[in-house]
Amino acid sequence: MQNAILLAYLAAAVLFILGMKRLQSPATARAGNRQAALGMLIAVVATLLIQELLSPVEMIAGCAVGATVGLLLARRVAMTSMPELVAVFNGFGGLASALVAGAEIARYLVAEPGGGAFARVAQTSATLAPLDAPAAVIGALCILIGAITFSGSFVAFGKLGGRLSGNPVSFPGMRVLTALILVGALAAGGYLIYGAGASFAAMDMEAILWGTLALGGFALALGVLLVIPIGGADMPVVVALLNAYSGLAAAATGFMLDNTALIVSGALVGASGLILTSIMCEAMNRSLLNVLLGGFGGDSDGGGPAVEGAREDLTAQETSVEDVAIQLTYAEQVVIVPGYGMAVAQAQHQVRELADMLQARGVTVKYAIHPVAGRMPGHMNVLLAEADVPYDQLYEMDDINSEFAMTDVSLVIGANDVVNPAARTDKASPVYGMPILDVDRSGAVVVLKRSLRPGYSGIENMLFYHDNTRMLFGDAKDSLTNLAAAVKNL
Ligand code: NDP
Repeated sequence: MQNAILLAYLAAAVLFILGMKRLQSPATARAGNRQAALGMLIAVVATLLIQELLSPVEMIAGCAVGATVGLLLARRVAMTSMPELVAVFNGFGGLASALVAGAEIARYLVAEPGGGAFARVAQTSATLAPLDAPAAVIGALCILIGAITFSGSFVAFGKLGGRLSGNPVSFPGMRVLTALILVGALAAGGYLIYGAGASFAAMDMEAILWGTLALGGFALALGVLLVIPIGGADMPVVVALLNAYSGLAAAATGFMLDNTALIVSGALVGASGLILTSIMCEAMNRSLLNVLLGGFGGDSDGGGPAVEGAREDLTAQETSVEDVAIQLTYAEQVVIVPGYGMAVAQAQHQVRELADMLQARGVTVKYAIHPVAGRMPGHMNVLLAEADVPYDQLYEMDDINSEFAMTDVSLVIGANDVVNPAARTDKASPVYGMPILDVDRSGAVVVLKRSLRPGYSGIENMLFYHDNTRMLFGDAKDSLTNLAAAVKNL
Protein backbone atom coordinates (compact mmCIF):
# COMPACT_ATOMS: atom_id res chain seq x y z
CA MET A 1 0.00 0.00 0.00
CA GLN A 2 2.80 2.38 0.96
CA ASN A 3 4.43 1.90 -2.45
CA ALA A 4 1.14 2.45 -4.27
CA ILE A 5 0.66 5.74 -2.42
CA LEU A 6 4.20 6.85 -3.27
CA LEU A 7 3.62 5.99 -6.93
CA ALA A 8 0.38 7.97 -6.90
CA TYR A 9 2.24 10.95 -5.43
CA LEU A 10 4.89 10.62 -8.14
CA ALA A 11 2.19 10.60 -10.83
CA ALA A 12 0.61 13.68 -9.22
CA ALA A 13 3.96 15.51 -9.18
CA VAL A 14 4.56 14.70 -12.87
CA LEU A 15 1.07 15.97 -13.74
CA PHE A 16 1.66 19.20 -11.76
CA ILE A 17 4.90 19.88 -13.64
CA LEU A 18 3.50 19.02 -17.08
CA GLY A 19 0.38 21.07 -16.31
CA MET A 20 2.48 24.08 -15.32
CA LYS A 21 4.54 23.77 -18.49
CA ARG A 22 1.37 23.96 -20.56
CA LEU A 23 0.30 27.13 -18.73
CA GLN A 24 3.09 28.92 -20.64
CA SER A 25 0.92 29.39 -23.73
CA PRO A 26 -2.70 30.62 -23.84
CA ALA A 27 -3.41 27.89 -26.42
CA THR A 28 -2.55 25.06 -24.01
CA ALA A 29 -3.30 26.76 -20.66
CA ARG A 30 -6.78 25.29 -20.15
CA ALA A 31 -5.57 21.75 -20.82
CA GLY A 32 -2.61 22.37 -18.48
CA ASN A 33 -4.95 23.52 -15.73
CA ARG A 34 -7.06 20.37 -16.13
CA GLN A 35 -3.92 18.22 -16.06
CA ALA A 36 -2.71 19.80 -12.81
CA ALA A 37 -6.21 19.45 -11.30
CA LEU A 38 -6.15 15.73 -12.16
CA GLY A 39 -2.78 15.50 -10.39
CA MET A 40 -4.33 17.12 -7.30
CA LEU A 41 -7.26 14.67 -7.41
CA ILE A 42 -4.82 11.73 -7.49
CA ALA A 43 -2.86 13.22 -4.56
CA VAL A 44 -6.03 13.77 -2.52
CA VAL A 45 -7.34 10.24 -3.16
CA ALA A 46 -3.94 8.74 -2.25
CA THR A 47 -3.92 10.77 0.98
CA LEU A 48 -7.42 9.51 1.82
CA LEU A 49 -5.99 5.99 1.72
CA ILE A 50 -3.36 6.72 4.37
CA GLN A 51 -6.02 6.95 7.11
CA GLU A 52 -3.62 7.96 9.84
CA LEU A 53 -5.56 10.44 11.90
CA LEU A 54 -8.97 10.97 10.41
CA SER A 55 -11.43 8.48 8.96
CA PRO A 56 -12.12 8.64 5.18
CA VAL A 57 -15.62 10.01 5.94
CA GLU A 58 -14.16 12.89 7.97
CA MET A 59 -11.60 13.64 5.27
CA ILE A 60 -14.17 13.49 2.45
CA ALA A 61 -16.45 15.80 4.48
CA GLY A 62 -13.53 18.25 4.86
CA CYS A 63 -12.79 18.12 1.13
CA ALA A 64 -16.48 18.63 0.29
CA VAL A 65 -16.75 21.72 2.51
CA GLY A 66 -13.52 23.17 1.08
CA ALA A 67 -14.49 22.41 -2.51
CA THR A 68 -17.97 23.94 -2.08
CA VAL A 69 -16.60 27.17 -0.60
CA GLY A 70 -13.93 27.32 -3.35
CA LEU A 71 -16.47 26.69 -6.10
CA LEU A 72 -18.90 29.34 -4.83
CA LEU A 73 -16.14 31.93 -4.43
CA ALA A 74 -14.59 31.23 -7.83
CA ARG A 75 -17.97 31.41 -9.59
CA ARG A 76 -19.03 34.64 -7.89
CA VAL A 77 -15.83 36.64 -8.07
CA ALA A 78 -15.51 39.23 -10.83
CA MET A 79 -12.50 38.91 -13.12
CA THR A 80 -11.18 42.24 -11.83
CA SER A 81 -11.22 40.88 -8.26
CA MET A 82 -9.22 37.75 -9.07
CA PRO A 83 -6.09 38.98 -7.21
CA GLU A 84 -8.27 39.33 -4.07
CA LEU A 85 -9.44 35.74 -4.42
CA VAL A 86 -5.86 34.56 -4.86
CA ALA A 87 -4.92 36.54 -1.73
CA VAL A 88 -7.65 34.77 0.26
CA PHE A 89 -6.58 31.35 -1.06
CA ASN A 90 -2.96 32.08 -0.11
CA GLY A 91 -4.06 33.24 3.33
CA PHE A 92 -6.00 30.07 4.02
CA GLY A 93 -3.12 27.97 2.64
CA GLY A 94 -0.77 29.64 5.13
CA LEU A 95 -3.26 29.23 7.97
CA ALA A 96 -3.73 25.53 7.15
CA SER A 97 0.04 24.95 7.27
CA ALA A 98 0.37 26.78 10.60
CA LEU A 99 -2.58 24.87 12.08
CA VAL A 100 -1.29 21.49 10.90
CA ALA A 101 2.11 22.25 12.46
CA GLY A 102 0.37 23.40 15.66
CA ALA A 103 -1.74 20.22 15.71
CA GLU A 104 1.35 18.05 15.20
CA ILE A 105 3.07 19.76 18.12
CA ALA A 106 -0.11 19.39 20.20
CA ARG A 107 -0.06 15.65 19.50
CA TYR A 108 3.24 15.41 21.35
CA LEU A 109 1.90 17.53 24.18
CA VAL A 110 -1.25 15.48 24.71
CA ALA A 111 0.72 12.25 24.39
CA GLU A 112 2.14 13.11 27.80
CA PRO A 113 0.38 11.69 30.88
CA GLY A 114 -2.63 13.83 31.69
CA GLY A 115 -3.55 14.56 28.11
CA GLY A 116 -6.73 12.57 28.56
CA ALA A 117 -9.09 15.11 27.05
CA PHE A 118 -7.61 14.26 23.68
CA ALA A 119 -7.70 10.57 24.35
CA ARG A 120 -8.09 9.50 20.75
CA VAL A 121 -5.27 11.66 19.45
CA ALA A 122 -3.13 10.67 22.40
CA GLN A 123 -3.67 7.02 21.57
CA THR A 124 -2.22 7.57 18.10
CA SER A 125 0.57 9.61 19.59
CA ALA A 126 1.67 6.77 21.83
CA THR A 127 3.64 5.45 18.88
CA LEU A 128 5.26 8.80 18.07
CA ALA A 129 8.96 9.37 18.37
CA PRO A 130 9.68 12.26 20.74
CA LEU A 131 9.45 15.76 19.22
CA ASP A 132 13.15 16.31 18.65
CA ALA A 133 14.86 19.59 17.82
CA PRO A 134 14.94 19.14 13.99
CA ALA A 135 11.19 18.37 13.93
CA ALA A 136 10.59 21.41 16.14
CA VAL A 137 12.64 23.62 13.76
CA ILE A 138 10.42 22.56 10.86
CA GLY A 139 7.29 23.06 12.99
CA ALA A 140 8.45 26.53 14.01
CA LEU A 141 9.10 27.44 10.34
CA CYS A 142 5.61 26.23 9.35
CA ILE A 143 3.99 28.36 12.03
CA LEU A 144 6.15 31.42 11.31
CA ILE A 145 5.70 31.42 7.52
CA GLY A 146 2.10 30.17 7.63
CA ALA A 147 0.88 32.80 10.11
CA ILE A 148 2.72 35.65 8.29
CA THR A 149 1.11 34.49 5.04
CA PHE A 150 -2.34 34.36 6.65
CA SER A 151 -2.42 37.84 8.21
CA GLY A 152 -0.40 39.45 5.37
CA SER A 153 -2.74 37.99 2.74
CA PHE A 154 -5.81 39.32 4.50
CA VAL A 155 -4.29 42.81 4.68
CA ALA A 156 -3.55 42.53 0.93
CA PHE A 157 -7.15 41.33 0.38
CA GLY A 158 -8.47 44.37 2.29
CA LYS A 159 -6.27 46.80 0.35
CA LEU A 160 -7.09 45.33 -3.06
CA GLY A 161 -10.83 45.46 -2.44
CA GLY A 162 -10.82 48.94 -0.89
CA ARG A 163 -11.88 47.60 2.54
CA LEU A 164 -8.60 49.01 3.86
CA SER A 165 -6.90 52.16 2.58
CA GLY A 166 -4.73 51.42 -0.46
CA ASN A 167 -2.30 54.13 0.67
CA PRO A 168 0.94 53.02 2.30
CA VAL A 169 0.38 53.08 6.09
CA SER A 170 3.22 53.90 8.45
CA PHE A 171 3.73 55.44 11.87
CA PRO A 172 6.75 56.65 13.81
CA GLY A 173 8.84 53.76 15.10
CA MET A 174 7.13 51.25 12.82
CA ARG A 175 10.34 49.69 11.49
CA VAL A 176 11.72 49.39 15.05
CA LEU A 177 8.48 47.74 16.20
CA THR A 178 8.62 45.33 13.24
CA ALA A 179 12.24 44.46 14.06
CA LEU A 180 11.34 43.91 17.74
CA ILE A 181 8.45 41.61 16.82
CA LEU A 182 10.75 39.67 14.48
CA VAL A 183 13.22 39.24 17.35
CA GLY A 184 10.30 38.15 19.57
CA ALA A 185 9.19 35.59 16.98
CA LEU A 186 12.71 34.19 16.66
CA ALA A 187 13.02 34.01 20.45
CA ALA A 188 9.66 32.24 20.78
CA GLY A 189 10.68 29.78 18.04
CA GLY A 190 13.98 29.21 19.83
CA TYR A 191 12.13 28.54 23.10
CA LEU A 192 9.91 25.99 21.33
CA ILE A 193 12.93 24.27 19.81
CA TYR A 194 14.72 24.33 23.18
CA GLY A 195 11.64 22.73 24.77
CA ALA A 196 11.66 19.94 22.22
CA GLY A 197 15.36 19.29 22.45
CA ALA A 198 15.81 19.89 26.20
CA SER A 199 16.06 16.26 27.02
CA PHE A 200 15.35 13.38 24.73
CA ALA A 201 13.39 11.52 27.36
CA ALA A 202 11.48 14.39 28.93
CA MET A 203 10.60 17.34 26.75
CA ASP A 204 9.97 20.70 28.38
CA MET A 205 6.23 20.81 27.74
CA GLU A 206 5.73 24.33 28.99
CA ALA A 207 8.43 25.71 26.71
CA ILE A 208 6.87 23.92 23.77
CA LEU A 209 3.37 25.21 24.56
CA TRP A 210 4.27 28.84 25.26
CA GLY A 211 6.88 28.94 22.49
CA THR A 212 4.28 27.74 19.97
CA LEU A 213 1.56 30.18 21.06
CA ALA A 214 3.92 33.19 21.24
CA LEU A 215 5.44 32.34 17.86
CA GLY A 216 1.98 32.21 16.27
CA GLY A 217 1.00 35.57 17.79
CA PHE A 218 4.23 37.33 16.79
CA ALA A 219 4.03 35.91 13.26
CA LEU A 220 0.44 37.16 12.82
CA ALA A 221 1.52 40.66 13.90
CA LEU A 222 4.52 40.50 11.53
CA GLY A 223 2.29 39.66 8.56
CA VAL A 224 0.22 42.80 9.19
CA LEU A 225 3.23 45.07 9.77
CA LEU A 226 5.05 43.85 6.66
CA VAL A 227 2.13 44.47 4.30
CA ILE A 228 0.46 47.69 5.56
CA PRO A 229 3.38 49.97 4.53
CA ILE A 230 3.14 48.76 0.92
CA GLY A 231 1.05 50.88 -1.49
CA GLY A 232 -2.08 49.45 -3.13
CA ALA A 233 -0.44 49.65 -6.60
CA ASP A 234 2.08 47.02 -5.54
CA MET A 235 -0.42 44.65 -3.92
CA PRO A 236 -0.45 42.19 -6.87
CA VAL A 237 3.32 41.74 -6.41
CA VAL A 238 2.79 41.21 -2.69
CA VAL A 239 0.11 38.62 -3.45
CA ALA A 240 2.55 36.75 -5.73
CA LEU A 241 5.18 36.86 -2.97
CA LEU A 242 2.70 35.63 -0.34
CA ASN A 243 1.77 32.88 -2.78
CA ALA A 244 5.42 31.80 -2.68
CA TYR A 245 5.36 31.94 1.13
CA SER A 246 2.25 29.76 1.27
CA GLY A 247 4.06 27.23 -0.92
CA LEU A 248 7.11 27.25 1.36
CA ALA A 249 4.88 26.78 4.42
CA ALA A 250 3.13 23.85 2.70
CA ALA A 251 6.49 22.26 1.78
CA ALA A 252 7.67 22.61 5.40
CA THR A 253 4.40 21.00 6.55
CA GLY A 254 5.09 18.18 4.10
CA PHE A 255 8.44 17.53 5.80
CA MET A 256 6.73 17.56 9.18
CA LEU A 257 4.06 15.07 8.09
CA ASP A 258 6.52 13.14 5.92
CA ASN A 259 4.14 13.63 2.98
CA THR A 260 5.86 13.64 -0.41
CA ALA A 261 2.93 15.17 -2.33
CA LEU A 262 2.83 18.15 0.02
CA ILE A 263 6.59 18.67 -0.23
CA VAL A 264 6.54 18.57 -4.04
CA SER A 265 3.43 20.73 -4.51
CA GLY A 266 4.59 23.21 -1.85
CA ALA A 267 8.01 23.52 -3.50
CA LEU A 268 6.36 24.06 -6.91
CA VAL A 269 4.08 26.78 -5.54
CA GLY A 270 6.99 28.39 -3.70
CA ALA A 271 9.25 28.40 -6.76
CA SER A 272 6.58 29.55 -9.21
CA GLY A 273 5.46 32.30 -6.81
CA LEU A 274 9.02 33.58 -6.59
CA ILE A 275 9.47 33.45 -10.38
CA LEU A 276 6.18 35.32 -10.84
CA THR A 277 7.22 37.95 -8.29
CA SER A 278 10.49 38.48 -10.13
CA ILE A 279 8.74 38.71 -13.55
CA MET A 280 6.35 41.35 -12.17
CA CYS A 281 9.18 43.38 -10.64
CA GLU A 282 11.15 43.20 -13.90
CA ALA A 283 8.13 44.30 -15.95
CA MET A 284 7.81 47.36 -13.72
CA ASN A 285 11.60 47.90 -13.66
CA ARG A 286 11.55 47.79 -9.85
CA SER A 287 13.50 45.72 -7.37
CA LEU A 288 11.66 43.56 -4.85
CA LEU A 289 13.20 45.60 -2.05
CA ASN A 290 11.86 48.78 -3.65
CA VAL A 291 8.38 47.20 -3.78
CA LEU A 292 8.54 46.08 -0.15
CA LEU A 293 9.88 49.37 1.19
CA GLY A 294 8.86 51.83 -1.52
CA GLY A 295 5.29 52.81 -0.54
CA PHE A 296 4.52 53.28 -4.27
CA GLY A 297 0.98 54.26 -5.41
CA GLY A 298 -2.23 54.41 -3.47
CA ASP A 299 -5.99 54.21 -3.89
CA SER A 300 -7.26 54.24 -7.43
CA ASP A 301 -10.86 55.33 -7.75
CA GLY A 302 -13.32 55.36 -10.60
CA GLY A 303 -16.07 57.59 -11.97
CA GLY A 304 -16.05 61.39 -12.04
CA PRO A 305 -16.25 63.99 -14.80
CA ALA A 306 -14.44 63.47 -18.11
CA VAL A 307 -12.01 66.33 -17.75
CA GLU A 308 -10.98 65.31 -14.25
CA GLY A 309 -7.23 64.96 -14.00
CA ALA A 310 -6.61 67.33 -16.94
CA ARG A 311 -3.50 69.56 -16.96
CA GLU A 312 -4.58 73.18 -17.02
CA ASP A 313 -1.67 74.25 -19.23
CA LEU A 314 -2.24 71.57 -21.88
CA THR A 315 -5.15 70.51 -24.07
CA ALA A 316 -6.06 66.95 -24.85
CA GLN A 317 -7.87 66.56 -28.17
CA GLU A 318 -11.23 64.86 -27.92
CA THR A 319 -12.63 62.86 -30.81
CA SER A 320 -15.97 61.33 -31.75
CA VAL A 321 -17.16 57.80 -32.42
CA GLU A 322 -17.82 58.63 -36.09
CA ASP A 323 -14.31 60.00 -36.66
CA VAL A 324 -12.65 57.01 -35.00
CA ALA A 325 -14.82 54.61 -37.04
CA ILE A 326 -13.62 56.23 -40.27
CA GLN A 327 -9.98 56.22 -39.10
CA LEU A 328 -10.16 52.52 -38.23
CA THR A 329 -11.93 51.45 -41.40
CA TYR A 330 -9.40 53.14 -43.67
CA ALA A 331 -6.37 51.89 -41.74
CA GLU A 332 -4.13 49.11 -43.04
CA GLN A 333 -3.01 48.00 -39.60
CA VAL A 334 -4.68 48.59 -36.23
CA VAL A 335 -3.07 47.53 -32.94
CA ILE A 336 -5.42 47.11 -29.99
CA VAL A 337 -3.82 47.78 -26.59
CA PRO A 338 -6.02 46.52 -23.75
CA GLY A 339 -5.50 47.58 -20.14
CA TYR A 340 -7.17 47.46 -16.77
CA GLY A 341 -10.07 49.65 -17.99
CA MET A 342 -11.10 46.92 -20.46
CA ALA A 343 -11.35 44.54 -17.50
CA VAL A 344 -13.38 47.05 -15.46
CA ALA A 345 -15.76 47.67 -18.35
CA GLN A 346 -15.84 43.93 -19.22
CA ALA A 347 -15.50 45.08 -22.82
CA GLN A 348 -13.57 42.08 -24.21
CA HIS A 349 -16.51 40.79 -26.29
CA GLN A 350 -17.09 44.23 -27.83
CA VAL A 351 -13.35 44.44 -28.62
CA ARG A 352 -13.53 41.15 -30.47
CA GLU A 353 -16.70 42.21 -32.33
CA LEU A 354 -15.06 45.43 -33.55
CA ALA A 355 -11.86 43.60 -34.53
CA ASP A 356 -13.89 41.03 -36.52
CA MET A 357 -15.64 43.81 -38.44
CA LEU A 358 -12.38 45.54 -39.25
CA GLN A 359 -10.76 42.29 -40.36
CA ALA A 360 -13.74 41.58 -42.61
CA ARG A 361 -12.95 44.89 -44.30
CA GLY A 362 -9.33 43.88 -44.88
CA VAL A 363 -7.73 45.72 -41.93
CA THR A 364 -4.91 43.83 -40.17
CA VAL A 365 -5.71 43.74 -36.44
CA LYS A 366 -3.17 42.79 -33.77
CA TYR A 367 -3.39 42.85 -29.98
CA ALA A 368 -0.43 44.15 -27.95
CA ILE A 369 -0.17 42.58 -24.49
CA HIS A 370 1.96 44.24 -21.82
CA PRO A 371 3.12 41.82 -19.09
CA VAL A 372 1.60 43.92 -16.28
CA ALA A 373 -1.47 45.28 -18.05
CA GLY A 374 -4.43 44.89 -15.70
CA ARG A 375 -3.97 43.76 -12.14
CA MET A 376 -2.39 40.33 -12.47
CA PRO A 377 -0.08 38.64 -14.94
CA GLY A 378 -2.02 37.21 -17.85
CA HIS A 379 -5.10 39.32 -16.98
CA MET A 380 -5.57 40.50 -20.57
CA ASN A 381 -4.87 37.06 -22.04
CA VAL A 382 -7.58 35.51 -19.88
CA LEU A 383 -10.17 38.14 -20.82
CA LEU A 384 -9.40 37.99 -24.53
CA ALA A 385 -9.44 34.17 -24.44
CA GLU A 386 -12.90 34.40 -22.85
CA ALA A 387 -13.99 36.39 -25.92
CA ASP A 388 -12.39 33.75 -28.22
CA VAL A 389 -9.82 36.15 -29.68
CA PRO A 390 -7.47 33.91 -31.72
CA TYR A 391 -4.18 33.41 -29.85
CA ASP A 392 -2.12 34.10 -32.95
CA GLN A 393 -3.37 37.70 -32.94
CA LEU A 394 -1.94 38.32 -29.44
CA TYR A 395 1.59 39.78 -29.43
CA GLU A 396 3.85 40.20 -26.45
CA MET A 397 5.50 43.58 -25.86
CA ASP A 398 8.91 42.63 -27.28
CA ASP A 399 7.34 41.23 -30.45
CA ILE A 400 5.01 44.15 -31.22
CA ASN A 401 7.02 47.21 -30.21
CA SER A 402 8.91 47.37 -33.50
CA GLU A 403 5.55 47.29 -35.36
CA PHE A 404 4.07 50.48 -33.94
CA ALA A 405 6.01 52.61 -36.44
CA MET A 406 4.18 50.70 -39.21
CA THR A 407 0.78 50.94 -37.52
CA ASP A 408 -1.86 53.40 -38.67
CA VAL A 409 -3.97 53.44 -35.51
CA SER A 410 -3.24 52.21 -31.98
CA LEU A 411 -6.51 51.73 -30.13
CA VAL A 412 -5.73 51.99 -26.43
CA ILE A 413 -8.63 50.51 -24.45
CA GLY A 414 -8.47 51.40 -20.74
CA ALA A 415 -4.66 51.15 -20.64
CA ASN A 416 -2.67 53.95 -19.11
CA ASP A 417 0.57 53.23 -17.20
CA VAL A 418 1.68 50.57 -19.69
CA VAL A 419 1.67 53.16 -22.53
CA ASN A 420 3.12 56.09 -20.57
CA PRO A 421 6.07 57.51 -22.59
CA ALA A 422 7.48 59.07 -19.39
CA ALA A 423 8.86 55.59 -18.68
CA ARG A 424 11.14 56.10 -21.71
CA THR A 425 11.88 59.80 -21.54
CA ASP A 426 11.39 61.34 -18.08
CA LYS A 427 14.26 60.44 -15.77
CA ALA A 428 12.42 62.07 -12.86
CA SER A 429 9.34 59.88 -13.27
CA PRO A 430 8.85 57.01 -10.80
CA VAL A 431 8.06 54.75 -13.78
CA TYR A 432 11.28 55.69 -15.64
CA GLY A 433 12.87 52.56 -17.06
CA MET A 434 9.67 50.46 -17.01
CA PRO A 435 9.32 48.80 -20.43
CA ILE A 436 6.20 50.15 -22.18
CA LEU A 437 4.24 49.60 -25.37
CA ASP A 438 5.46 52.29 -27.81
CA VAL A 439 2.01 53.31 -29.07
CA ASP A 440 3.14 56.94 -29.45
CA ARG A 441 5.26 55.82 -32.43
CA SER A 442 2.20 54.82 -34.45
CA GLY A 443 0.51 57.12 -37.01
CA ALA A 444 -2.42 57.87 -34.68
CA VAL A 445 -3.40 56.91 -31.15
CA VAL A 446 -6.99 56.72 -29.94
CA VAL A 447 -7.42 56.33 -26.17
CA LEU A 448 -10.70 55.00 -24.76
CA LYS A 449 -11.14 55.96 -21.11
CA ARG A 450 -13.53 57.95 -18.97
CA SER A 451 -11.35 60.89 -17.97
CA LEU A 452 -7.78 62.18 -17.97
CA ARG A 453 -7.11 60.74 -14.55
CA PRO A 454 -3.88 58.81 -14.04
CA GLY A 455 -3.64 55.03 -13.93
CA TYR A 456 -2.88 52.82 -10.96
CA SER A 457 0.57 54.29 -10.38
CA GLY A 458 -0.97 57.75 -9.91
CA ILE A 459 1.36 59.30 -12.52
CA GLU A 460 0.02 61.61 -15.23
CA ASN A 461 0.33 60.45 -18.82
CA MET A 462 1.63 62.95 -21.40
CA LEU A 463 0.54 60.61 -24.20
CA PHE A 464 -2.95 62.10 -23.86
CA TYR A 465 -1.63 65.53 -24.92
CA HIS A 466 0.46 64.36 -27.91
CA ASP A 467 -0.36 65.77 -31.37
CA ASN A 468 -1.23 62.36 -32.78
CA THR A 469 -3.41 61.30 -29.81
CA ARG A 470 -7.20 61.61 -29.66
CA MET A 471 -9.29 60.89 -26.57
CA LEU A 472 -12.61 59.05 -26.86
CA PHE A 473 -14.12 59.58 -23.42
CA GLY A 474 -16.62 57.19 -21.89
CA ASP A 475 -16.97 53.69 -20.53
CA ALA A 476 -14.96 51.38 -22.80
CA LYS A 477 -17.86 48.98 -23.37
CA ASP A 478 -20.22 51.79 -24.46
CA SER A 479 -17.59 53.38 -26.69
CA LEU A 480 -16.78 50.06 -28.37
CA THR A 481 -20.47 49.20 -28.89
CA ASN A 482 -21.00 52.60 -30.53
CA LEU A 483 -17.83 52.19 -32.61
CA ALA A 484 -18.95 48.79 -33.91
CA ALA A 485 -22.35 50.25 -34.86
CA ALA A 486 -20.65 53.17 -36.63
CA VAL A 487 -18.25 50.88 -38.54
CA LYS A 488 -21.21 48.74 -39.62
CA ASN A 489 -22.97 51.79 -41.06
CA LEU A 490 -20.00 52.95 -43.11
P1 NDP B 1 -3.85 51.54 -15.39
O1 NDP B 1 -4.23 51.19 -14.01
O2 NDP B 1 -2.60 52.29 -15.61
O3 NDP B 1 -5.01 52.39 -16.08
C1 NDP B 1 -6.27 51.87 -16.26
C2 NDP B 1 -7.13 52.97 -16.85
O4 NDP B 1 -8.39 52.39 -17.16
C3 NDP B 1 -7.38 54.10 -15.90
O5 NDP B 1 -6.58 55.21 -16.21
C4 NDP B 1 -8.88 54.39 -16.04
O6 NDP B 1 -9.06 55.72 -16.48
C5 NDP B 1 -9.32 53.43 -17.14
N1 NDP B 1 -10.63 52.86 -16.86
C6 NDP B 1 -11.11 52.38 -15.70
N2 NDP B 1 -12.36 51.95 -15.85
C7 NDP B 1 -12.69 52.17 -17.14
C8 NDP B 1 -13.86 51.95 -17.90
N3 NDP B 1 -14.97 51.42 -17.37
N4 NDP B 1 -13.85 52.28 -19.20
C9 NDP B 1 -12.76 52.84 -19.76
N5 NDP B 1 -11.62 53.07 -19.09
C10 NDP B 1 -11.60 52.74 -17.79
O7 NDP B 1 -3.88 50.18 -16.21
P2 NDP B 1 -2.78 49.49 -17.10
O8 NDP B 1 -3.37 48.18 -17.47
O9 NDP B 1 -2.32 50.40 -18.20
O10 NDP B 1 -1.55 49.28 -16.13
C11 NDP B 1 -1.59 48.36 -15.06
C12 NDP B 1 -1.02 48.98 -13.80
O11 NDP B 1 -1.13 48.05 -12.72
C13 NDP B 1 0.43 49.33 -13.93
O12 NDP B 1 0.72 50.46 -13.16
C14 NDP B 1 1.11 48.11 -13.32
O13 NDP B 1 2.41 48.37 -12.87
C15 NDP B 1 0.16 47.84 -12.18
N6 NDP B 1 0.34 46.49 -11.74
C16 NDP B 1 -0.05 45.44 -12.53
C17 NDP B 1 0.24 44.16 -12.16
C18 NDP B 1 -0.09 43.00 -13.03
O14 NDP B 1 0.36 41.90 -12.73
N7 NDP B 1 -0.84 43.19 -14.11
C19 NDP B 1 0.92 43.88 -10.91
C20 NDP B 1 1.26 45.05 -10.15
C21 NDP B 1 0.95 46.28 -10.56
P3 NDP B 1 -10.43 56.50 -16.17
O15 NDP B 1 -10.66 56.41 -14.70
O16 NDP B 1 -10.18 57.86 -16.68
O17 NDP B 1 -11.49 55.78 -16.96
